Amino acid sequence: MNTLAQIAAQLQGYDPQALSAQDVNAFLSALVQPVAQTETLPVFDALDRVLAADVLSPVHVPPHDNSAMDGYAFDGSALRGDQPLTLRCVGTALAGKAWRGQVSSGECLKIMTGAIMPTGLDTVVPQEMVQVSGEHITLPPALLKAGDNRRLRGEDVQQGQAALRQGERLTPAALGLLASLGIPDVRVKRRLKVAYFSTGDEILSLGEAPREGAVYDSNRYTVFGLLKRLGVEVLDMGVVRDDPALLEAAFTQAAQKADAIITSGGVSVGEADHTKTMMKQLGDVAFWRIAMRPGRPMAVGRIGDSILFGLPGNPVAVMVTFLAFVRPALLRMMGAHDTAPPLLRARSAEAIRKKPGRTEYQRGTVTRSADGSLQVRTTGNQGSGVLSSMTQANGLIVLHHDQGNIAVGDEVEVMMFYGVI
Ligand code: AMP
Ligand code: MG
Repeated sequence: MNTLAQIAAQLQGYDPQALSAQDVNAFLSALVQPVAQTETLPVFDALDRVLAADVLSPVHVPPHDNSAMDGYAFDGSALRGDQPLTLRCVGTALAGKAWRGQVSSGECLKIMTGAIMPTGLDTVVPQEMVQVSGEHITLPPALLKAGDNRRLRGEDVQQGQAALRQGERLTPAALGLLASLGIPDVRVKRRLKVAYFSTGDEILSLGEAPREGAVYDSNRYTVFGLLKRLGVEVLDMGVVRDDPALLEAAFTQAAQKADAIITSGGVSVGEADHTKTMMKQLGDVAFWRIAMRPGRPMAVGRIGDSILFGLPGNPVAVMVTFLAFVRPALLRMMGAHDTAPPLLRARSAEAIRKKPGRTEYQRGTVTRSADGSLQVRTTGNQGSGVLSSMTQANGLIVLHHDQGNIAVGDEVEVMMFYGVI
């Protein structure tokens, strides 16, 4: 396990007072490790979990060549491109039952979607394409080629092939794929446990009476929602008052119980409260100023065996630092290989002022413009305390470190919320 100083020594040009967003992610990926423990879960319980091992398919999917259509199966070598083909129908093959009979030259078999293709037959003509006359069907010329409308054995997954890879997160499609292989349970990384609390004497819990200068705690609620979407186990530790004994107890308990601790507030340079002091006292913690907006201050390190993410207090800064840094780090701890949030590109519908030398995350709304391309517009007041801007937006416009002003029509990258958080 590397100390923070060891990690810092490996990062070129590490300056805790001026870290780029990229440096932050590089540091965090060196700091956190995937959890080692695994468990076996029924497929229904494994949504969003991370696979601990490759899943090799025990079978071919589909197990037999079968029909992709309701129609008539025949030997495609009988097709003559420019001539109609008349065949005598000798029976019906239903899905779920093998048809046991002989289909000779000049004959065909009525077949339902999913029914096994009998040996020697490789082509299916959909029923709506043929003319039926008694026992005979006639296919018009030039409609089909041999092999059409047949699904091949193993075309989805071959027996012995890795259908899913270690480090993949189990999506709804992956659950279905596992089930299609006949696999009832799956080996996944154990669930991560994340504790979180808010700090600051001005922070009120819901239910407390308003008082002058105090604000209701919103950060615990956004952090809760962000963590739930990630599929981790959450431990809500409330609002912790600015009292050394209370802070010490909260940090100690969180470190004993959780893999990671997320706090908000109390980490900026001018902070008079005890949060930073207690972090320093109890753990190996670095205090950063990140070249970003919103955000800037952040504390990171270890308390006991637990990873500490000390986020700034401003509600938008909490969400942005979570999405940009904490989420990828937690995904890595969960054992996932893909941890970076996907970015899509859209044209900016407005000019945006941006200073090179810091990463800016502006709240944006992506819509489809008249010509069908994606466009994005900022959502008004970008203040780091303006949480309503986050509810109006559907993504964060990411203006990268070296980028300067954006002109109308320039392409920008957007970290979309839906499907991500
Ligand atoms: P700090 O980082 O502690 O200086 O806090 C920055 C700003 O965020 C201050 O205006 C705080 O009142 C506000 N803030 C801190 N924690 C919370 C919270 N849990 N919910 C809402 N606002 C907060
Ligand atoms: Mg404060």
